[in-house]
Amino acid sequence: MTQHTQDWLARSRAAVWHPCTQMKRHETLPIVPIARADGIWLEDFDGKRYIDAVSSWWVNLFGHNQPRIKQAIKDQLDTLEHVILAGFTHQPVVALSEKLAALSGLGHAFYGSDGASATEIALKMSFHYWRNIGQNGKQRFVSLENSYHGETAGALAVTDVPLFSTTYAPLLKENFRVPSPDSRLAAVGESAEDVALRAADALAALLHENHHDIAALIVEPLVQGAAGMAMYHPAYLQRARALCDQYQIHLIADEIAVGFGRTGTFFAYQQADITPDFLCLSKGITGGYLPLSCVLTSDTVYQAFYDDDITRGFLHSHSYTGNPLACRAALEVLAIFEEESVLARNRDTAARFSQHLSRVAAHPAVRHFRQQGMIWAFDVDCTRHDFAVAFFSGMLSRGCLVRPIGKTVYFMPPYIIEEAHMLQLVESTCAVLDNILAGTDAYQRQESPLP
Ligand SMILES: *Cc1c(COP(=O)(O)O)cnc(C)c1O
Repeated sequence: MTQHTQDWLARSRAAVWHPCTQMKRHETLPIVPIARADGIWLEDFDGKRYIDAVSSWWVNLFGHNQPRIKQAIKDQLDTLEHVILAGFTHQPVVALSEKLAALSGLGHAFYGSDGASATEIALKMSFHYWRNIGQNGKQRFVSLENSYHGETAGALAVTDVPLFSTTYAPLLKENFRVPSPDSRLAAVGESAEDVALRAADALAALLHENHHDIAALIVEPLVQGAAGMAMYHPAYLQRARALCDQYQIHLIADEIAVGFGRTGTFFAYQQADITPDFLCLSKGITGGYLPLSCVLTSDTVYQAFYDDDITRGFLHSHSYTGNPLACRAALEVLAIFEEESVLARNRDTAARFSQHLSRVAAHPAVRHFRQQGMIWAFDVDCTRHDFAVAFFSGMLSRGCLVRPIGKTVYFMPPYIIEEAHMLQLVESTCAVLDNILAGTDAYQRQESPLP
Protein backbone atom coordinates (compact mmCIF):
# COMPACT_ATOMS: atom_id res chain seq x y z
CA MET A 1 0.00 0.00 0.00
CA THR A 2 1.42 3.41 -0.94
CA GLN A 3 2.06 6.08 1.71
CA HIS A 4 -0.62 8.20 0.06
CA THR A 5 -3.24 5.44 0.44
CA GLN A 6 -2.23 4.84 4.06
CA ASP A 7 -2.58 8.53 4.93
CA TRP A 8 -5.92 8.64 3.23
CA LEU A 9 -7.14 5.59 5.20
CA ALA A 10 -6.09 7.23 8.47
CA ARG A 11 -8.25 10.22 7.52
CA SER A 12 -11.13 7.87 6.70
CA ARG A 13 -10.88 6.22 10.14
CA ALA A 14 -10.93 9.59 11.84
CA ALA A 15 -13.83 11.02 9.84
CA VAL A 16 -16.16 8.08 9.16
CA TRP A 17 -17.96 5.98 11.77
CA HIS A 18 -18.50 2.68 9.97
CA PRO A 19 -21.72 0.64 10.26
CA CYS A 20 -21.93 -2.53 12.35
CA THR A 21 -18.31 -2.07 13.45
CA GLN A 22 -16.28 -1.79 16.64
CA MET A 23 -14.04 0.96 15.27
CA LYS A 24 -11.11 -0.02 17.51
CA ARG A 25 -10.80 -3.23 15.52
CA HIS A 26 -9.56 -1.16 12.63
CA GLU A 27 -6.35 -0.49 14.56
CA THR A 28 -5.27 -3.91 13.28
CA LEU A 29 -7.78 -4.83 10.59
CA PRO A 30 -7.33 -2.52 7.61
CA ILE A 31 -10.31 -0.76 6.05
CA VAL A 32 -10.44 -1.59 2.35
CA PRO A 33 -10.43 1.50 0.15
CA ILE A 34 -12.41 1.09 -3.06
CA ALA A 35 -11.62 3.41 -5.93
CA ARG A 36 -13.87 1.99 -8.65
CA ALA A 37 -15.93 -1.04 -9.59
CA ASP A 38 -16.98 -2.83 -12.74
CA GLY A 39 -19.09 -5.97 -13.16
CA ILE A 40 -18.38 -8.31 -10.25
CA TRP A 41 -15.07 -6.57 -9.46
CA LEU A 42 -14.22 -3.98 -6.82
CA GLU A 43 -10.85 -2.28 -7.29
CA ASP A 44 -8.75 -0.50 -4.68
CA PHE A 45 -6.43 2.48 -5.15
CA ASP A 46 -3.45 0.27 -5.91
CA GLY A 47 -5.26 -1.64 -8.65
CA LYS A 48 -5.91 -4.76 -6.55
CA ARG A 49 -9.26 -6.34 -7.46
CA TYR A 50 -11.81 -8.22 -5.34
CA ILE A 51 -14.76 -10.38 -6.39
CA ASP A 52 -17.83 -8.83 -4.76
CA ALA A 53 -19.27 -12.15 -3.57
CA VAL A 54 -21.69 -10.44 -1.15
CA SER A 55 -23.17 -8.09 -3.76
CA SER A 56 -22.07 -5.10 -1.65
CA TRP A 57 -24.26 -6.18 1.30
CA TRP A 58 -26.87 -7.94 -0.85
CA VAL A 59 -27.93 -4.95 -2.92
CA ASN A 60 -26.21 -5.46 -6.26
CA LEU A 61 -27.98 -7.66 -8.80
CA PHE A 62 -26.38 -7.10 -12.20
CA GLY A 63 -22.86 -5.99 -11.33
CA HIS A 64 -21.24 -2.61 -10.86
CA ASN A 65 -21.03 -0.04 -13.65
CA GLN A 66 -24.12 -1.66 -15.23
CA PRO A 67 -24.65 0.18 -18.53
CA ARG A 68 -28.46 0.07 -18.63
CA ILE A 69 -29.08 1.20 -15.05
CA LYS A 70 -26.40 3.88 -15.35
CA GLN A 71 -27.95 5.26 -18.54
CA ALA A 72 -31.45 5.22 -17.03
CA ILE A 73 -30.29 7.29 -14.06
CA LYS A 74 -28.45 9.71 -16.37
CA ASP A 75 -31.59 10.18 -18.48
CA GLN A 76 -33.69 10.78 -15.38
CA LEU A 77 -31.10 13.26 -14.08
CA ASP A 78 -31.73 15.46 -17.11
CA THR A 79 -35.49 15.45 -16.49
CA LEU A 80 -36.36 15.47 -12.78
CA GLU A 81 -34.01 14.66 -9.92
CA HIS A 82 -36.48 14.94 -7.04
CA VAL A 83 -39.81 16.41 -6.04
CA ILE A 84 -41.97 16.21 -2.91
CA LEU A 85 -44.34 13.22 -3.14
CA ALA A 86 -46.97 14.60 -0.73
CA GLY A 87 -49.54 16.09 -3.06
CA PHE A 88 -47.27 15.70 -6.12
CA THR A 89 -46.45 12.83 -8.42
CA HIS A 90 -44.16 11.93 -11.32
CA GLN A 91 -43.80 9.33 -14.05
CA PRO A 92 -41.18 6.97 -12.57
CA VAL A 93 -43.06 6.51 -9.28
CA VAL A 94 -46.33 5.73 -11.04
CA ALA A 95 -44.77 3.33 -13.54
CA LEU A 96 -42.80 1.54 -10.80
CA SER A 97 -45.82 1.22 -8.52
CA GLU A 98 -47.91 -0.26 -11.35
CA LYS A 99 -45.19 -2.75 -12.27
CA LEU A 100 -44.61 -3.87 -8.65
CA ALA A 101 -48.36 -4.29 -8.21
CA ALA A 102 -48.59 -6.45 -11.35
CA LEU A 103 -45.70 -8.60 -10.15
CA SER A 104 -46.90 -9.06 -6.56
CA GLY A 105 -50.69 -9.03 -6.71
CA LEU A 106 -50.58 -6.30 -4.03
CA GLY A 107 -50.70 -2.54 -4.60
CA HIS A 108 -50.78 0.95 -3.08
CA ALA A 109 -46.98 1.23 -3.03
CA PHE A 110 -45.69 3.27 -0.08
CA TYR A 111 -42.04 4.34 -0.34
CA GLY A 112 -39.14 4.76 2.06
CA SER A 113 -35.40 4.99 1.56
CA ASP A 114 -34.05 1.90 3.31
CA GLY A 115 -35.08 -1.52 4.48
CA ALA A 116 -35.59 -0.67 8.14
CA SER A 117 -38.02 2.10 7.16
CA ALA A 118 -39.99 -0.41 5.09
CA THR A 119 -40.30 -2.61 8.20
CA GLU A 120 -41.42 0.38 10.28
CA ILE A 121 -44.01 1.28 7.65
CA ALA A 122 -45.44 -2.24 7.53
CA LEU A 123 -45.60 -2.53 11.33
CA LYS A 124 -47.24 0.89 11.75
CA MET A 125 -49.72 0.26 8.93
CA SER A 126 -50.74 -3.08 10.40
CA PHE A 127 -51.16 -1.61 13.89
CA HIS A 128 -53.13 1.34 12.51
CA TYR A 129 -55.32 -0.90 10.34
CA TRP A 130 -56.60 -2.79 13.38
CA ARG A 131 -57.30 0.50 15.20
CA ASN A 132 -59.14 1.84 12.20
CA ILE A 133 -61.45 -1.17 12.16
CA GLY A 134 -62.02 -1.00 15.92
CA GLN A 135 -59.74 -3.83 17.06
CA ASN A 136 -57.61 -1.66 19.32
CA GLY A 137 -56.21 -4.61 21.27
CA LYS A 138 -54.12 -5.87 18.37
CA GLN A 139 -50.86 -4.09 19.17
CA ARG A 140 -48.09 -6.65 19.26
CA PHE A 141 -46.03 -8.42 16.65
CA VAL A 142 -44.70 -11.93 16.21
CA SER A 143 -41.31 -12.66 14.69
CA LEU A 144 -39.17 -15.75 14.36
CA GLU A 145 -36.14 -16.75 16.36
CA ASN A 146 -33.04 -15.48 14.55
CA SER A 147 -35.09 -12.97 12.57
CA TYR A 148 -33.61 -9.79 11.16
CA HIS A 149 -35.82 -6.92 10.01
CA GLY A 150 -33.58 -3.88 10.43
CA GLU A 151 -32.17 -1.82 13.27
CA THR A 152 -34.35 1.22 13.90
CA ALA A 153 -36.25 0.96 17.19
CA GLY A 154 -39.44 -0.58 15.78
CA ALA A 155 -37.62 -2.95 13.45
CA LEU A 156 -35.13 -3.95 16.15
CA ALA A 157 -38.05 -5.02 18.34
CA VAL A 158 -38.87 -7.74 15.79
CA THR A 159 -35.19 -8.60 15.21
CA ASP A 160 -33.70 -11.52 17.14
CA VAL A 161 -29.97 -10.88 16.93
CA PRO A 162 -28.97 -10.33 20.58
CA LEU A 163 -25.66 -8.72 19.56
CA PHE A 164 -27.65 -5.94 17.91
CA SER A 165 -30.63 -5.68 20.23
CA THR A 166 -29.70 -6.55 23.85
CA THR A 167 -28.11 -3.17 24.60
CA TYR A 168 -31.23 -1.35 23.46
CA ALA A 169 -33.77 -3.63 25.16
CA PRO A 170 -35.22 -0.82 27.32
CA LEU A 171 -36.06 1.09 24.13
CA LEU A 172 -37.80 -1.80 22.43
CA LYS A 173 -41.43 -2.87 22.46
CA GLU A 174 -41.98 -6.34 23.86
CA ASN A 175 -43.16 -8.68 21.15
CA PHE A 176 -43.64 -12.42 20.71
CA ARG A 177 -41.01 -14.76 19.30
CA VAL A 178 -41.68 -18.18 17.83
CA PRO A 179 -39.31 -21.04 16.87
CA SER A 180 -37.52 -20.78 13.56
CA PRO A 181 -38.32 -23.37 10.86
CA ASP A 182 -34.55 -23.46 10.05
CA SER A 183 -34.02 -26.84 8.39
CA ARG A 184 -30.68 -27.28 10.20
CA LEU A 185 -32.77 -28.03 13.29
CA ALA A 186 -33.93 -31.36 11.84
CA ALA A 187 -33.59 -34.26 14.24
CA VAL A 188 -32.36 -37.59 12.90
CA GLY A 189 -34.94 -38.87 10.45
CA GLU A 190 -36.73 -35.53 10.19
CA SER A 191 -37.09 -33.76 6.83
CA ALA A 192 -36.94 -29.99 6.25
CA GLU A 193 -40.70 -30.07 5.88
CA ASP A 194 -41.07 -31.84 9.24
CA VAL A 195 -39.06 -29.06 10.92
CA ALA A 196 -41.21 -26.42 9.19
CA LEU A 197 -44.44 -28.04 10.33
CA ARG A 198 -43.13 -28.49 13.89
CA ALA A 199 -42.30 -24.75 13.98
CA ALA A 200 -45.74 -23.98 12.54
CA ASP A 201 -47.34 -25.96 15.40
CA ALA A 202 -45.57 -23.68 17.87
CA LEU A 203 -46.84 -20.66 15.94
CA ALA A 204 -50.37 -22.10 16.02
CA ALA A 205 -50.19 -22.51 19.79
CA LEU A 206 -49.00 -18.93 20.32
CA LEU A 207 -51.62 -17.42 18.01
CA HIS A 208 -54.37 -19.51 19.57
CA GLU A 209 -53.45 -18.14 22.98
CA ASN A 210 -52.70 -14.50 22.10
CA HIS A 211 -54.40 -13.57 18.82
CA HIS A 212 -56.46 -10.79 20.42
CA ASP A 213 -53.19 -8.93 21.17
CA ILE A 214 -51.46 -9.61 17.87
CA ALA A 215 -51.45 -7.31 14.83
CA ALA A 216 -49.01 -9.13 12.54
CA LEU A 217 -46.52 -11.92 12.00
CA ILE A 218 -43.37 -10.77 10.20
CA VAL A 219 -41.17 -13.27 8.35
CA GLU A 220 -38.24 -13.40 5.97
CA PRO A 221 -39.63 -15.85 3.41
CA LEU A 222 -37.48 -18.98 2.80
CA VAL A 223 -34.14 -17.56 3.98
CA GLN A 224 -33.37 -15.83 7.28
CA GLY A 225 -30.46 -13.79 6.00
CA ALA A 226 -28.64 -11.92 8.75
CA ALA A 227 -29.00 -14.86 11.17
CA GLY A 228 -26.63 -16.78 8.90
CA MET A 229 -28.64 -17.76 5.82
CA ALA A 230 -30.98 -20.14 7.66
CA MET A 231 -33.09 -21.78 4.96
CA TYR A 232 -36.48 -23.39 5.45
CA HIS A 233 -39.25 -25.29 3.70
CA PRO A 234 -42.11 -23.29 2.08
CA ALA A 235 -44.64 -25.41 4.01
CA TYR A 236 -44.00 -23.05 6.93
CA LEU A 237 -45.26 -20.08 4.92
CA GLN A 238 -48.35 -22.00 3.85
CA ARG A 239 -49.24 -22.87 7.42
CA ALA A 240 -48.42 -19.35 8.58
CA ARG A 241 -50.74 -17.90 5.92
CA ALA A 242 -53.58 -20.20 6.95
CA LEU A 243 -53.08 -19.44 10.66
CA CYS A 244 -52.97 -15.69 10.04
CA ASP A 245 -56.26 -15.95 8.14
CA GLN A 246 -57.80 -18.07 10.88
CA TYR A 247 -56.83 -15.68 13.69
CA GLN A 248 -57.14 -12.35 11.85
CA ILE A 249 -53.47 -11.49 11.88
CA HIS A 250 -51.50 -9.80 9.11
CA LEU A 251 -48.69 -11.65 7.39
CA ILE A 252 -45.79 -9.31 6.60
CA ALA A 253 -43.30 -10.70 4.07
CA ASP A 254 -39.95 -8.98 4.55
CA GLU A 255 -38.41 -9.62 1.13
CA ILE A 256 -35.85 -6.86 1.53
CA ALA A 257 -33.05 -9.41 1.05
CA VAL A 258 -34.81 -12.27 -0.77
CA GLY A 259 -36.91 -10.35 -3.30
CA PHE A 260 -35.92 -9.67 -6.92
CA GLY A 261 -35.05 -13.22 -7.87
CA ARG A 262 -32.59 -14.01 -5.08
CA THR A 263 -34.23 -17.29 -4.06
CA GLY A 264 -35.03 -18.46 -7.59
CA THR A 265 -38.52 -17.01 -8.00
CA PHE A 266 -39.10 -13.28 -8.38
CA PHE A 267 -40.48 -13.11 -4.84
CA ALA A 268 -39.66 -15.87 -2.35
CA TYR A 269 -43.25 -16.17 -1.04
CA GLN A 270 -44.32 -17.33 -4.52
CA GLN A 271 -42.66 -20.69 -3.80
CA ALA A 272 -45.30 -21.25 -1.12
CA ASP A 273 -48.11 -20.19 -3.43
CA ILE A 274 -49.40 -17.60 -0.98
CA THR A 275 -49.88 -13.83 -0.92
CA PRO A 276 -48.83 -11.83 2.15
CA ASP A 277 -50.80 -8.82 3.44
CA PHE A 278 -47.70 -6.62 3.33
CA LEU A 279 -44.62 -6.95 1.18
CA CYS A 280 -41.43 -5.07 2.13
CA LEU A 281 -38.86 -4.50 -0.62
CA SER A 282 -35.49 -2.75 -0.74
CA LYS A 283 -31.83 -3.81 -1.30
CA GLY A 284 -31.92 -5.22 -4.87
CA ILE A 285 -34.78 -2.96 -5.93
CA THR A 286 -32.45 -0.46 -7.65
CA GLY A 287 -29.84 -3.05 -8.59
CA GLY A 288 -27.62 -1.61 -5.86
CA TYR A 289 -27.53 1.90 -7.30
CA LEU A 290 -29.64 4.11 -5.06
CA PRO A 291 -31.40 3.81 -1.69
CA LEU A 292 -35.08 2.96 -2.06
CA SER A 293 -37.61 0.83 -0.26
CA CYS A 294 -41.25 0.07 -0.77
CA VAL A 295 -44.17 -1.51 1.09
CA LEU A 296 -47.04 -2.98 -0.92
CA THR A 297 -50.34 -4.00 0.64
CA SER A 298 -53.85 -5.23 -0.09
CA ASP A 299 -56.95 -3.26 -1.08
CA THR A 300 -58.53 -4.32 2.22
CA VAL A 301 -55.78 -2.63 4.23
CA TYR A 302 -55.79 0.44 2.01
CA GLN A 303 -59.58 0.88 2.24
CA ALA A 304 -59.47 0.93 6.05
CA PHE A 305 -57.42 4.15 5.86
CA TYR A 306 -59.53 5.81 3.13
CA ASP A 307 -61.76 8.27 4.99
CA ASP A 308 -62.75 11.91 5.52
CA ASP A 309 -60.98 11.81 8.88
CA ILE A 310 -57.33 12.77 8.42
CA THR A 311 -56.14 10.77 11.43
CA ARG A 312 -57.45 7.55 9.89
CA GLY A 313 -54.95 8.16 7.06
CA PHE A 314 -51.39 6.87 7.17
CA LEU A 315 -49.52 9.98 8.35
CA HIS A 316 -46.00 8.73 7.83
CA SER A 317 -43.34 10.23 5.58
CA HIS A 318 -39.68 10.32 4.61
CA SER A 319 -38.10 13.30 2.85
CA TYR A 320 -36.87 11.33 -0.15
CA THR A 321 -40.04 9.25 -0.53
CA GLY A 322 -40.37 7.99 -4.10
CA ASN A 323 -37.20 9.68 -5.32
CA PRO A 324 -37.40 9.80 -9.16
CA LEU A 325 -33.77 8.77 -9.74
CA ALA A 326 -34.17 5.70 -7.54
CA CYS A 327 -37.55 4.80 -9.07
CA ARG A 328 -36.07 5.14 -12.56
CA ALA A 329 -33.20 2.80 -11.59
CA ALA A 330 -35.75 0.31 -10.21
CA LEU A 331 -37.75 0.46 -13.44
CA GLU A 332 -34.62 -0.39 -15.40
CA VAL A 333 -33.96 -3.33 -13.07
CA LEU A 334 -37.46 -4.65 -13.84
CA ALA A 335 -36.89 -4.11 -17.57
CA ILE A 336 -33.70 -6.16 -17.37
CA PHE A 337 -35.60 -8.98 -15.62
CA GLU A 338 -38.22 -8.97 -18.38
CA GLU A 339 -35.97 -8.60 -21.40
CA GLU A 340 -33.03 -10.77 -20.38
CA SER A 341 -34.83 -13.83 -18.92
CA VAL A 342 -32.90 -13.32 -15.69
CA LEU A 343 -34.70 -16.01 -13.65
CA ALA A 344 -34.05 -18.69 -16.29
CA ARG A 345 -30.42 -17.62 -16.68
CA ASN A 346 -29.98 -17.67 -12.89
CA ARG A 347 -31.19 -21.27 -12.75
CA ASP A 348 -28.37 -22.24 -15.08
CA THR A 349 -25.82 -20.07 -13.23
CA ALA A 350 -26.89 -21.53 -9.87
CA ALA A 351 -26.58 -25.10 -11.14
CA ARG A 352 -23.03 -24.46 -12.38
CA PHE A 353 -21.88 -22.71 -9.19
CA SER A 354 -23.42 -25.49 -7.07
CA GLN A 355 -21.48 -28.03 -9.09
CA HIS A 356 -18.18 -26.18 -8.52
CA LEU A 357 -19.01 -25.77 -4.85
CA SER A 358 -19.39 -29.51 -4.37
CA ARG A 359 -15.65 -29.39 -3.62
CA VAL A 360 -16.34 -27.03 -0.73
CA ALA A 361 -19.35 -29.07 0.42
CA ALA A 362 -17.08 -32.13 0.65
CA HIS A 363 -14.50 -30.34 2.82
CA PRO A 364 -14.17 -32.19 6.17
CA ALA A 365 -14.89 -29.05 8.23
CA VAL A 366 -18.01 -28.04 6.28
CA ARG A 367 -21.45 -28.67 7.82
CA HIS A 368 -24.97 -28.01 6.52
CA PHE A 369 -23.98 -26.96 3.01
CA ARG A 370 -27.14 -25.36 1.60
CA GLN A 371 -28.40 -23.40 -1.39
CA GLN A 372 -31.54 -21.52 -2.36
CA GLY A 373 -31.53 -19.79 -5.75
CA MET A 374 -28.55 -17.45 -5.84
CA ILE A 375 -27.61 -17.91 -2.16
CA TRP A 376 -25.11 -20.52 -0.95
CA ALA A 377 -24.09 -21.06 2.67
CA PHE A 378 -22.34 -23.53 4.95
CA ASP A 379 -21.22 -23.72 8.57
CA VAL A 380 -17.63 -24.40 9.56
CA ASP A 381 -16.73 -26.79 12.35
CA CYS A 382 -13.87 -24.84 13.88
CA THR A 383 -13.05 -23.75 17.43
CA ARG A 384 -11.34 -20.50 16.47
CA HIS A 385 -13.29 -17.60 18.02
CA ASP A 386 -11.79 -15.30 15.38
CA PHE A 387 -12.92 -17.52 12.49
CA ALA A 388 -15.01 -14.84 10.76
CA VAL A 389 -12.28 -12.22 10.64
CA ALA A 390 -9.61 -14.81 9.79
CA PHE A 391 -11.69 -16.15 6.90
CA PHE A 392 -12.55 -12.65 5.69
CA SER A 393 -8.89 -11.65 5.76
CA GLY A 394 -7.71 -14.79 4.01
CA MET A 395 -10.29 -14.42 1.26
CA LEU A 396 -9.52 -10.73 0.85
CA SER A 397 -5.83 -11.42 0.31
CA ARG A 398 -6.91 -13.80 -2.47
CA GLY A 399 -9.05 -11.16 -4.14
CA CYS A 400 -12.46 -12.26 -2.80
CA LEU A 401 -14.87 -10.23 -0.68
CA VAL A 402 -16.71 -12.74 1.55
CA ARG A 403 -17.94 -11.75 5.04
CA PRO A 404 -18.85 -14.75 7.22
CA ILE A 405 -21.61 -14.39 9.82
CA GLY A 406 -20.05 -16.09 12.84
CA LYS A 407 -19.03 -19.52 11.59
CA THR A 408 -21.37 -19.41 8.62
CA VAL A 409 -19.80 -18.64 5.27
CA TYR A 410 -22.12 -17.53 2.49
CA PHE A 411 -21.97 -16.43 -1.12
CA MET A 412 -24.59 -14.06 -2.46
CA PRO A 413 -22.98 -12.89 -5.70
CA PRO A 414 -24.37 -10.58 -8.38
CA TYR A 415 -26.34 -12.57 -10.96
CA ILE A 416 -23.64 -11.93 -13.59
CA ILE A 417 -21.10 -14.21 -11.87
CA GLU A 418 -19.04 -16.13 -14.45
CA GLU A 419 -17.13 -19.40 -14.53
CA ALA A 420 -13.74 -17.85 -13.74
CA HIS A 421 -15.14 -16.03 -10.68
CA MET A 422 -16.76 -19.24 -9.43
CA LEU A 423 -13.47 -21.10 -9.73
CA GLN A 424 -11.54 -18.38 -7.91
CA LEU A 425 -14.08 -18.41 -5.07
CA VAL A 426 -14.00 -22.21 -4.75
CA GLU A 427 -10.18 -22.44 -4.89
CA SER A 428 -9.78 -19.62 -2.38
CA THR A 429 -12.41 -20.99 0.00
CA CYS A 430 -10.76 -24.42 0.15
CA ALA A 431 -7.28 -22.92 0.61
CA VAL A 432 -8.38 -20.46 3.31
CA LEU A 433 -10.33 -23.14 5.20
CA ASP A 434 -7.28 -25.43 5.14
CA ASN A 435 -5.00 -22.66 6.41
CA ILE A 436 -7.34 -21.60 9.20
CA LEU A 437 -7.90 -25.16 10.39
CA ALA A 438 -4.15 -25.78 10.34
CA GLY A 439 -3.53 -22.50 12.18
CA THR A 440 -1.24 -21.33 9.39
CA ASP A 441 -3.34 -18.42 8.12
CA ALA A 442 -1.99 -14.87 8.01
CA TYR A 443 -4.42 -13.64 10.64
CA GLN A 444 -3.29 -16.32 13.12
CA ARG A 445 0.32 -15.35 12.46
CA GLN A 446 -0.61 -11.76 13.36
CA GLU A 447 0.62 -10.51 10.03
CA SER A 448 -1.21 -7.83 8.20
CA PRO A 449 -3.99 -9.75 6.45
CA LEU A 450 -3.55 -7.55 3.40
CA PRO A 451 -0.50 -7.72 1.17
C1 LIG B 1 -31.08 -5.63 5.22
C2 LIG B 1 -32.38 -6.06 5.74
C3 LIG B 1 -33.24 -5.16 6.38
C4 LIG B 1 -32.86 -3.74 6.68
O1 LIG B 1 -32.56 -2.99 5.55
P1 LIG B 1 -31.64 -1.69 5.71
O2 LIG B 1 -31.67 -1.06 4.35
O3 LIG B 1 -30.28 -2.19 6.09
O4 LIG B 1 -32.25 -0.84 6.75
C5 LIG B 1 -34.47 -5.63 6.80
N1 LIG B 1 -34.83 -6.89 6.58
C6 LIG B 1 -34.04 -7.78 5.97
C7 LIG B 1 -34.53 -9.18 5.74
C8 LIG B 1 -32.78 -7.41 5.54
O5 LIG B 1 -31.96 -8.30 4.98
